[in-house]
Amino acid sequence: MTDKKCGECSLCCLMTHTPEFRRPVGVWCQHCKQGEGCTIYTVRPESCVNYKCMWLMEDWPEFLRPDKCGVLFDVLRNHKTVVAITARPGAWREEPAYNTILHLLKEDRGVYAVDGEEKNLLVPEGRTPEQVWYDLMKAVKELGLT
Ligand code: SF4
Ligand code: SF4
Repeated sequence: MTDKKCGECSLCCLMTHTPEFRRPVGVWCQHCKQGEGCTIYTVRPESCVNYKCMWLMEDWPEFLRPDKCGVLFDVLRNHKTVVAITARPGAWREEPAYNTILHLLKEDRGVYAVDGEEKNLLVPEGRTPEQVWYDLMKAVKELGLT
C-alpha cells in the first residue's frame, strides 16, 4: 500500500461503475469535475471510497497513472487477473502500458485488455486461455457484475 494521491486523475469516475448511482462503465459520473475531482468527495458512495486502481495501490511510477498512460489497471479480487481498461484507443498496445502488461504476465497474472469494443485475453505462460477466462469470470461474478 502507498500514500499516493490521485492528483488530476479521475478516470475511475468514467471507466468503472458506481453501483450506488447505477452508473455504468463508460459514462462520466455526474459529480465529477474533470481535472478537479469529485464534487461530493466527503459524502461520496462507499464503492468510491473503497476503490483503488493498481497504480494507486502499487509502487508504480507516476507515468503509469491512468490519465497519463491511457490505461486503468484494475486487479480483481483473486489477484490472478488484471483488467486493463483503455481510455485512449490503442494505449494498451503502446509503452508504457504494454511493458506493464508483459510484467503482469511474467507474474503469472492473466490480463483482460478492454479497448472499447475490442477485447483481448492475454495469457501467462503455462496457463490456458480457458483457465484465465474461468478466473476472470469467477472474479467478475463475485463482484456482482454478471
Ligand atoms: S483511476 Fe486510480 S489514480 Fe485515477 S482517480 Fe481512480 S483511483 Fe485515482
Ligand atoms: S461520486 Fe465522486 S468519486 Fe464517485 S464516481 Fe462520482 S465523481 Fe467519482
